[in-house]
Amino acid sequence: MKIAQLTEQRSFIIEDLPTPTPGPRQILIRVNMCGICTGELHVWDEAQLSHVYPLSLGHEVAGVVEAVGSAVTEFAAGDRVAAINQRAGFAEHCVVDADHAAVLPDNLETGAALGEPIACAVNAARRIRPGFQDTIVIVGCGCMGLLLIQCLKAQGPKKVIAVDLREEAAAQALKYGADAALLVGHDHLQTKILELNGGQEPDILVEATGFQAGLTLCGELVKVRGKLVIYGYHQGPPRLVNMQLWNWKGLDVINAHERDPLVYAAGMKIGLDLLASGKLRTDELITHRFSLDQINDAFRLSCQKPAGYIKSVIIM
Ligand SMILES: [Zn+2]
Repeated sequence: MKIAQLTEQRSFIIEDLPTPTPGPRQILIRVNMCGICTGELHVWDEAQLSHVYPLSLGHEVAGVVEAVGSAVTEFAAGDRVAAINQRAGFAEHCVVDADHAAVLPDNLETGAALGEPIACAVNAARRIRPGFQDTIVIVGCGCMGLLLIQCLKAQGPKKVIAVDLREEAAAQALKYGADAALLVGHDHLQTKILELNGGQEPDILVEATGFQAGLTLCGELVKVRGKLVIYGYHQGPPRLVNMQLWNWKGLDVINAHERDPLVYAAGMKIGLDLLASGKLRTDELITHRFSLDQINDAFRLSCQKPAGYIKSVIIM
Protein backbone atom coordinates (compact mmCIF):
# COMPACT_ATOMS: atom_id res chain seq x y z
CA MET A 1 0.00 0.00 0.00
CA LYS A 2 1.04 3.61 -0.53
CA ILE A 3 1.75 5.65 2.60
CA ALA A 4 3.09 9.18 3.10
CA GLN A 5 6.16 9.30 5.34
CA LEU A 6 7.63 12.54 6.62
CA THR A 7 11.36 11.97 6.16
CA GLU A 8 12.60 15.49 6.90
CA GLN A 9 11.23 18.97 7.55
CA ARG A 10 8.48 19.83 4.99
CA SER A 11 9.05 16.68 2.99
CA PHE A 12 6.75 13.71 2.78
CA ILE A 13 7.71 10.93 0.43
CA ILE A 14 5.28 8.25 -0.75
CA GLU A 15 6.47 4.76 0.14
CA ASP A 16 5.17 1.31 -0.62
CA LEU A 17 4.73 -0.72 2.58
CA PRO A 18 2.96 -4.02 3.27
CA THR A 19 -0.72 -3.57 4.13
CA PRO A 20 -1.03 -3.99 7.92
CA THR A 21 -2.96 -6.89 9.45
CA PRO A 22 -5.53 -6.02 12.12
CA GLY A 23 -4.95 -7.37 15.63
CA PRO A 24 -7.80 -9.19 17.46
CA ARG A 25 -9.62 -5.95 18.43
CA GLN A 26 -8.65 -3.92 15.37
CA ILE A 27 -10.13 -3.22 11.95
CA LEU A 28 -8.39 -2.64 8.63
CA ILE A 29 -9.76 0.40 6.80
CA ARG A 30 -9.34 1.27 3.12
CA VAL A 31 -8.92 5.00 3.61
CA ASN A 32 -11.08 7.27 1.43
CA MET A 33 -10.31 10.54 3.17
CA CYS A 34 -7.99 11.80 5.88
CA GLY A 35 -8.16 15.38 7.15
CA ILE A 36 -5.13 17.56 7.76
CA CYS A 37 -5.17 18.75 11.37
CA THR A 38 -3.77 22.13 12.44
CA GLY A 39 -1.79 20.23 15.08
CA GLU A 40 0.07 18.39 12.30
CA LEU A 41 1.12 21.53 10.45
CA HIS A 42 3.74 22.30 13.10
CA VAL A 43 5.13 18.78 12.81
CA TRP A 44 5.53 19.21 9.05
CA ASP A 45 6.76 22.80 9.17
CA GLU A 46 9.22 22.78 12.07
CA ALA A 47 12.34 20.72 12.58
CA GLN A 48 12.24 19.62 16.22
CA LEU A 49 14.84 17.68 18.14
CA SER A 50 12.13 15.32 19.36
CA HIS A 51 11.25 14.24 15.80
CA VAL A 52 12.47 10.78 14.88
CA TYR A 53 12.05 10.43 11.11
CA PRO A 54 10.38 8.86 9.26
CA LEU A 55 7.10 10.02 10.80
CA SER A 56 3.68 9.00 9.60
CA LEU A 57 0.77 11.33 10.29
CA GLY A 58 -3.00 11.45 9.74
CA HIS A 59 -5.58 10.77 12.46
CA GLU A 60 -8.83 12.03 10.86
CA VAL A 61 -9.77 8.95 8.88
CA ALA A 62 -12.90 7.93 6.98
CA GLY A 63 -13.17 4.91 4.72
CA VAL A 64 -14.46 1.39 4.27
CA VAL A 65 -13.74 -1.61 6.51
CA GLU A 66 -11.83 -4.25 4.59
CA ALA A 67 -11.06 -6.79 7.34
CA VAL A 68 -11.75 -7.18 11.05
CA GLY A 69 -9.80 -8.85 13.86
CA SER A 70 -10.90 -12.13 15.41
CA ALA A 71 -12.56 -10.46 18.43
CA VAL A 72 -14.42 -7.73 16.51
CA THR A 73 -18.18 -8.26 16.26
CA GLU A 74 -19.47 -4.70 15.79
CA PHE A 75 -17.99 -4.11 12.31
CA ALA A 76 -17.93 -6.12 9.10
CA ALA A 77 -16.16 -5.78 5.77
CA GLY A 78 -17.92 -3.17 3.66
CA ASP A 79 -19.01 -0.92 6.56
CA ARG A 80 -18.35 2.75 5.95
CA VAL A 81 -16.68 4.21 9.03
CA ALA A 82 -15.04 7.26 10.56
CA ALA A 83 -12.14 6.55 12.87
CA ILE A 84 -9.65 8.23 15.14
CA ASN A 85 -6.32 6.84 14.11
CA GLN A 86 -3.25 7.22 16.31
CA ARG A 87 -1.41 8.23 13.12
CA ALA A 88 -0.69 6.79 9.69
CA GLY A 89 -4.00 7.82 8.12
CA PHE A 90 -2.28 9.37 5.10
CA ALA A 91 -2.15 5.97 3.46
CA GLU A 92 -4.25 3.69 1.30
CA HIS A 93 -4.93 1.46 4.33
CA CYS A 94 -4.65 1.79 8.08
CA VAL A 95 -5.57 -0.26 11.13
CA VAL A 96 -7.41 1.27 14.08
CA ASP A 97 -8.80 -0.07 17.34
CA ALA A 98 -12.44 -1.05 16.85
CA ASP A 99 -13.29 1.09 19.91
CA HIS A 100 -12.06 4.17 18.05
CA ALA A 101 -14.31 3.79 14.99
CA ALA A 102 -17.99 4.34 14.25
CA VAL A 103 -20.25 3.33 11.37
CA LEU A 104 -21.35 6.29 9.26
CA PRO A 105 -25.03 7.13 8.98
CA ASP A 106 -26.43 6.18 5.54
CA ASN A 107 -27.10 9.77 4.55
CA LEU A 108 -23.55 10.90 5.26
CA GLU A 109 -20.94 10.84 2.50
CA THR A 110 -17.61 9.33 3.48
CA GLY A 111 -15.89 12.44 2.14
CA ALA A 112 -17.77 14.65 4.64
CA ALA A 113 -17.06 12.47 7.67
CA LEU A 114 -14.60 14.58 9.64
CA GLY A 115 -14.92 12.18 12.57
CA GLU A 116 -12.01 13.25 14.77
CA PRO A 117 -12.56 17.03 14.53
CA ILE A 118 -16.25 16.49 15.26
CA ALA A 119 -15.29 14.41 18.30
CA CYS A 120 -13.14 17.28 19.60
CA ALA A 121 -15.98 19.79 19.18
CA VAL A 122 -18.64 17.55 20.74
CA ASN A 123 -16.44 16.62 23.68
CA ALA A 124 -15.54 20.26 24.29
CA ALA A 125 -19.23 21.19 24.23
CA ARG A 126 -19.92 18.38 26.71
CA ARG A 127 -17.21 19.74 29.02
CA ILE A 128 -18.53 23.32 28.70
CA ARG A 129 -22.15 22.31 29.47
CA PRO A 130 -23.66 25.78 28.90
CA GLY A 131 -26.86 26.70 30.69
CA PHE A 132 -29.91 28.14 28.92
CA GLN A 133 -29.08 31.61 30.28
CA ASP A 134 -25.41 31.57 29.34
CA THR A 135 -23.91 33.91 26.79
CA ILE A 136 -20.84 32.38 25.19
CA VAL A 137 -18.14 34.25 23.32
CA ILE A 138 -15.92 32.12 21.10
CA VAL A 139 -12.64 33.65 19.96
CA GLY A 140 -11.36 32.00 16.77
CA CYS A 141 -13.60 30.85 13.91
CA GLY A 142 -11.46 28.41 11.96
CA CYS A 143 -12.73 24.93 11.19
CA MET A 144 -12.69 23.83 14.85
CA GLY A 145 -14.38 27.03 16.02
CA LEU A 146 -17.12 26.64 13.40
CA LEU A 147 -17.76 23.05 14.51
CA LEU A 148 -17.95 24.10 18.15
CA ILE A 149 -20.32 27.00 17.42
CA GLN A 150 -22.76 24.46 15.96
CA CYS A 151 -22.40 22.05 18.90
CA LEU A 152 -22.92 24.87 21.41
CA LYS A 153 -25.99 26.14 19.55
CA ALA A 154 -27.42 22.61 19.67
CA GLN A 155 -27.17 22.80 23.48
CA GLY A 156 -29.47 25.84 23.57
CA PRO A 157 -27.56 28.63 25.36
CA LYS A 158 -28.89 32.19 25.34
CA LYS A 159 -26.41 33.51 22.81
CA VAL A 160 -23.21 32.58 20.97
CA ILE A 161 -21.06 35.53 19.89
CA ALA A 162 -18.15 34.82 17.55
CA VAL A 163 -14.93 36.84 17.41
CA ASP A 164 -12.19 36.64 14.79
CA LEU A 165 -9.55 38.78 13.10
CA ARG A 166 -10.72 37.91 9.59
CA GLU A 167 -13.90 39.20 8.01
CA GLU A 168 -14.49 35.98 6.08
CA ALA A 169 -14.22 33.89 9.26
CA ALA A 170 -16.74 36.14 11.00
CA ALA A 171 -19.09 35.68 8.03
CA GLN A 172 -18.67 31.89 8.26
CA ALA A 173 -19.47 32.01 11.97
CA LEU A 174 -22.81 33.67 11.20
CA LYS A 175 -23.48 31.09 8.49
CA TYR A 176 -22.88 28.26 10.97
CA GLY A 177 -25.24 29.69 13.57
CA ALA A 178 -23.49 32.34 15.67
CA ASP A 179 -25.95 34.99 16.85
CA ALA A 180 -23.44 37.77 16.20
CA ALA A 181 -19.89 38.07 14.92
CA LEU A 182 -17.36 40.73 15.89
CA LEU A 183 -14.02 41.68 14.38
CA VAL A 184 -10.89 42.14 16.48
CA GLY A 185 -9.39 45.53 15.65
CA HIS A 186 -12.60 46.96 14.17
CA ASP A 187 -15.16 46.50 16.90
CA HIS A 188 -14.55 47.68 20.45
CA LEU A 189 -15.14 44.20 21.74
CA GLN A 190 -15.99 44.89 25.39
CA THR A 191 -18.52 47.59 24.44
CA LYS A 192 -20.09 45.56 21.62
CA ILE A 193 -20.44 42.46 23.75
CA LEU A 194 -22.12 44.46 26.54
CA GLU A 195 -24.51 45.92 23.95
CA LEU A 196 -25.33 42.48 22.59
CA ASN A 197 -25.75 40.98 26.06
CA GLY A 198 -28.04 43.44 27.84
CA GLY A 199 -25.18 45.20 29.63
CA GLN A 200 -23.79 41.97 31.10
CA GLU A 201 -20.31 40.53 30.60
CA PRO A 202 -20.27 37.08 28.97
CA ASP A 203 -20.55 33.96 31.13
CA ILE A 204 -18.30 31.71 29.07
CA LEU A 205 -15.28 32.53 26.94
CA VAL A 206 -13.98 29.90 24.56
CA GLU A 207 -10.44 30.29 23.26
CA ALA A 208 -10.30 28.59 19.84
CA THR A 209 -7.20 30.12 18.31
CA GLY A 210 -4.29 28.23 19.86
CA PHE A 211 -2.40 31.54 20.11
CA GLN A 212 -1.25 33.70 23.00
CA ALA A 213 -3.25 36.72 21.83
CA GLY A 214 -6.49 34.73 21.81
CA LEU A 215 -5.84 33.41 25.30
CA THR A 216 -5.07 36.89 26.66
CA LEU A 217 -8.22 38.34 25.08
CA CYS A 218 -10.43 35.62 26.56
CA GLY A 219 -9.15 36.29 30.08
CA GLU A 220 -9.96 39.97 29.64
CA LEU A 221 -13.48 39.49 28.24
CA VAL A 222 -14.91 36.86 30.58
CA LYS A 223 -17.03 37.92 33.55
CA VAL A 224 -16.09 37.55 37.20
CA ARG A 225 -16.71 33.90 38.22
CA GLY A 226 -17.07 33.03 34.53
CA LYS A 227 -15.80 29.99 32.67
CA LEU A 228 -12.67 30.23 30.54
CA VAL A 229 -12.42 27.32 28.13
CA ILE A 230 -9.15 26.56 26.35
CA TYR A 231 -10.17 24.67 23.23
CA GLY A 232 -7.40 25.85 20.87
CA TYR A 233 -4.40 23.57 20.51
CA HIS A 234 -1.45 25.40 22.05
CA GLN A 235 1.94 24.46 20.69
CA GLY A 236 5.33 26.13 20.77
CA PRO A 237 6.68 28.15 23.69
CA PRO A 238 4.85 28.23 27.04
CA ARG A 239 1.98 30.70 27.24
CA LEU A 240 1.83 33.63 29.60
CA VAL A 241 -1.37 34.12 31.58
CA ASN A 242 -2.37 37.11 33.69
CA MET A 243 -2.81 35.00 36.80
CA GLN A 244 -3.57 38.04 38.92
CA LEU A 245 -6.58 38.79 36.71
CA TRP A 246 -7.72 35.15 36.42
CA ASN A 247 -7.28 34.72 40.15
CA TRP A 248 -9.13 37.93 41.03
CA LYS A 249 -12.01 37.03 38.69
CA GLY A 250 -12.23 33.60 40.32
CA LEU A 251 -12.41 31.91 36.92
CA ASP A 252 -13.24 28.27 36.28
CA VAL A 253 -10.67 27.23 33.68
CA ILE A 254 -11.38 24.21 31.50
CA ASN A 255 -8.80 22.65 29.21
CA ALA A 256 -11.28 21.12 26.80
CA HIS A 257 -9.13 18.47 25.15
CA GLU A 258 -10.03 14.81 25.55
CA ARG A 259 -7.39 12.17 26.17
CA ASP A 260 -9.56 9.21 27.20
CA PRO A 261 -9.87 7.21 23.96
CA LEU A 262 -13.33 5.86 24.77
CA VAL A 263 -14.73 9.29 25.65
CA TYR A 264 -13.06 10.62 22.50
CA ALA A 265 -14.83 7.99 20.38
CA ALA A 266 -18.14 8.48 22.19
CA GLY A 267 -17.97 12.16 21.18
CA MET A 268 -17.42 11.13 17.57
CA LYS A 269 -20.51 8.91 17.60
CA ILE A 270 -22.64 11.74 19.02
CA GLY A 271 -21.19 14.06 16.38
CA LEU A 272 -22.02 11.68 13.54
CA ASP A 273 -25.62 11.52 14.81
CA LEU A 274 -25.73 15.33 14.89
CA LEU A 275 -24.44 15.35 11.30
CA ALA A 276 -27.03 12.82 10.18
CA SER A 277 -29.82 14.88 11.76
CA GLY A 278 -28.58 18.11 10.16
CA LYS A 279 -27.81 19.83 13.48
CA LEU A 280 -24.14 19.79 12.54
CA ARG A 281 -22.91 20.64 9.04
CA THR A 282 -19.50 20.07 7.52
CA ASP A 283 -20.57 20.49 3.88
CA GLU A 284 -18.64 23.66 3.16
CA LEU A 285 -15.91 23.31 5.76
CA ILE A 286 -13.72 21.20 3.48
CA THR A 287 -12.44 23.83 1.08
CA HIS A 288 -9.39 22.05 -0.37
CA ARG A 289 -8.94 18.45 -1.53
CA PHE A 290 -5.65 16.85 -2.56
CA SER A 291 -4.47 13.42 -3.66
CA LEU A 292 -1.91 11.50 -1.58
CA ASP A 293 0.78 12.39 -4.12
CA GLN A 294 0.05 16.09 -3.52
CA ILE A 295 0.42 15.88 0.27
CA ASN A 296 3.34 18.34 0.49
CA ASP A 297 1.32 20.89 -1.52
CA ALA A 298 -1.62 20.24 0.81
CA PHE A 299 0.44 20.93 3.93
CA ARG A 300 2.07 24.00 2.36
CA LEU A 301 -1.32 25.48 1.48
CA SER A 302 -2.75 24.63 4.90
CA CYS A 303 0.14 26.49 6.56
CA GLN A 304 -0.40 29.51 4.28
CA LYS A 305 -4.20 29.58 4.81
CA PRO A 306 -5.06 31.55 1.65
CA ALA A 307 -8.33 33.50 1.39
CA GLY A 308 -11.28 31.12 1.51
CA TYR A 309 -9.33 28.36 3.28
CA ILE A 310 -11.05 26.46 6.09
CA LYS A 311 -9.91 22.83 5.92
CA SER A 312 -7.84 20.56 3.66
CA VAL A 313 -8.23 16.83 3.27
CA ILE A 314 -6.35 14.12 1.41
CA ILE A 315 -8.58 11.97 -0.78
CA MET A 316 -7.22 8.49 -1.46
ZN1 LIG B 1 -7.30 16.49 14.31
